[in-house]
Amino acid sequence: MKTILTGLLIIALIACSSCNKNGNRFYKNNPPPFKQNAYIRLPLGAVKPAGWLHDQLEIQAEGLTGNLDDFWPDLVNSAWRGGTSEGWERGPYYLDGLVPLAYLLDDPKLIEKSRDWVEKIIASSTDSGWYGPAKNKDRWPLAVANKVLMQYYEATGDNRAVDLLLKYFKYLHDTPPDWPDKDWRGVRAMENAVTGYWLYRLTGEKWLPETIESIEKNSTDWTTYYEIFPWDSAANAENRIPHIWDATGLTAHVVNNAMAIKYPGLWYQQSGDERYKRAVFEGIAKYDKNHGQAGGRFSGDEHLSGNTPDRGTELCSVVEYMFSLGELYEILGDNSLADRLELLAYNSLPGTTTPDYWAHQYDQQSNQVLVSAAKRNWSSNKDYSNIYGLMPNFACCLANMHQGWPKFVETMWMATNDNGLAAVAYGPSVVKAKVGNATDVTLTEETDYPFKGAVKFTITTSEPVRFPLYLRVPSWGSAKISWKGKSETALAGSTFKIIEKWKDGDEILIEMPMDLRYETRYNNSVSVLRGPLFFSLRIDKEYRQVKTDYDNFGYKGSVDWEIYPKSDWNYGLIISRENPELALNITENNVGKYPFADSGDMIWSADSGKYITCDDDAAVVIKTRGMRIPGWQMKDNSADLPPFSPVRPEEELQEVTLVPYGAARLRITEFPVMDIIFATGIIKPD
Ligand SMILES: [Zn+2]
Repeated sequence: MKTILTGLLIIALIACSSCNKNGNRFYKNNPPPFKQNAYIRLPLGAVKPAGWLHDQLEIQAEGLTGNLDDFWPDLVNSAWRGGTSEGWERGPYYLDGLVPLAYLLDDPKLIEKSRDWVEKIIASSTDSGWYGPAKNKDRWPLAVANKVLMQYYEATGDNRAVDLLLKYFKYLHDTPPDWPDKDWRGVRAMENAVTGYWLYRLTGEKWLPETIESIEKNSTDWTTYYEIFPWDSAANAENRIPHIWDATGLTAHVVNNAMAIKYPGLWYQQSGDERYKRAVFEGIAKYDKNHGQAGGRFSGDEHLSGNTPDRGTELCSVVEYMFSLGELYEILGDNSLADRLELLAYNSLPGTTTPDYWAHQYDQQSNQVLVSAAKRNWSSNKDYSNIYGLMPNFACCLANMHQGWPKFVETMWMATNDNGLAAVAYGPSVVKAKVGNATDVTLTEETDYPFKGAVKFTITTSEPVRFPLYLRVPSWGSAKISWKGKSETALAGSTFKIIEKWKDGDEILIEMPMDLRYETRYNNSVSVLRGPLFFSLRIDKEYRQVKTDYDNFGYKGSVDWEIYPKSDWNYGLIISRENPELALNITENNVGKYPFADSGDMIWSADSGKYITCDDDAAVVIKTRGMRIPGWQMKDNSADLPPFSPVRPEEELQEVTLVPYGAARLRITEFPVMDIIFATGIIKPD
């Protein structure tokens, strides 16, 4: 009996060590006693963009990201590259997007550019451990630069980056905490933990967790903030949200909130306390309830500003929320986090830039019917905030916008604790990784997702290899998955695991649910969704170049645009909430060279050196029935709040056209619904 028990124990130990006692054999998870993360981020370069997503990154390389440090004085002469100009956050913000973009595209020109910057940063490391421009004494921009060096190391293996980071974290360990609540470095202190935990996984230095614990204990307490959530709808209605820059106002600042949502999750790795995990999901739910906007984001036209569709969301908060969600998915593995990451990437991010990536907004709106320099209902942002330009309102977004697409690509695939791979977010891509018994495999993902629902993976391997493949099934419907002559339907929101001995050329097909859905929004209005895409009313438009209160330097495509409506926008929809497919006609077009363009958009042509008008339709076009609502007009230069639905019909039925939110620079996204009972005299409900 004793022998049998010992035998069982040995088997149990072997089984344990082969699955996940130490996590993945090739990509490091947290060492004990830390909590093991659900997944493991692959190093920069393991996931590459393909298809339309490759085009999107090329657009970025041809647009602002590839050109900005050639003409924007704050970067041209940045103190981070040895100049005399800005030496705070703008250089590191820019590099946080430029470095991954360069290596994801294997673009020699961009790699050369980014190396020039990084060499200067590495050379700035001092004996004390401090680094960066001599004139900067603030820890905040170093928290961003840390992430740049992390990515640079992953792409190049240059140990000098790790040496610098270890020296800097030793400096943080050995000097007194300096994370005041009233300063950016205090409210954003846990941004350092992203790199701190990465360094710990890489080096195992025992003093690194002490450093992070000291930061967590001596900086803004975001966990309690999410539990209490002082800046709710009531605070907004009663004008209690502080539009100021002290310790209280900084907790209401939209970008700080988008960064901070990951902080309890980061600390959960070390504390193991479920309280911190709960705070993440509570926080997201409270953002949705009190400040939620179409496209997965929350509002903040500088400070949190409620859930009506006239309010703005700052671009920095979109890319920071995306980065936070990628980090949180790695730690917690909850599919709702990846669902939202796709919503932001495929709606809010493209919707706030021009299709050619030469101009961006500071504030985007769900119902955005006029893009112009004018006073709007913002908490504190200025008149230029919703134009598409070089640096409307303030230049933080100009520096920070570049990380959005590249980091999204990096996050699309992750390694699993049992030596397999997980498809986290869908889109055309290629992943190369070690799996199973140390075999190198390539998975090619061919798809026009999110514009179309079919996804095909093809496996390339030199020898057959057994490994698990985890597929995230979106929350909006079950997916049909087929492989090796088998087929199953996977439940909405689940993770579908396939363990097979895969051989070269094996294919896995996924049919994503692409049924139309309605989401109820402000004043009982509706938003129309298909897959992860929100759809907006197409409004005929006229782009006008404007002179602003700053210099846009006129370099290549750098312009400032106002956009004026040339057709009515005040439409309600005639739809049945119970039967979303009724009377909607969907056309899937080829995804164009500019995936988020629609006819009438202005596109910079580098070949001809001028702007040309796009005459291609958006990748998906929906025709449906609507009706003008004469009483719904402009207020404070925005569309007034949609009237409460259902709305009694007054005018004739008309056909209206919807296009993806990301391709609609003028748009209605929260639609009133016409009263179908009154409308039955005009149309039949089925
Ligand atoms: Zn910004």
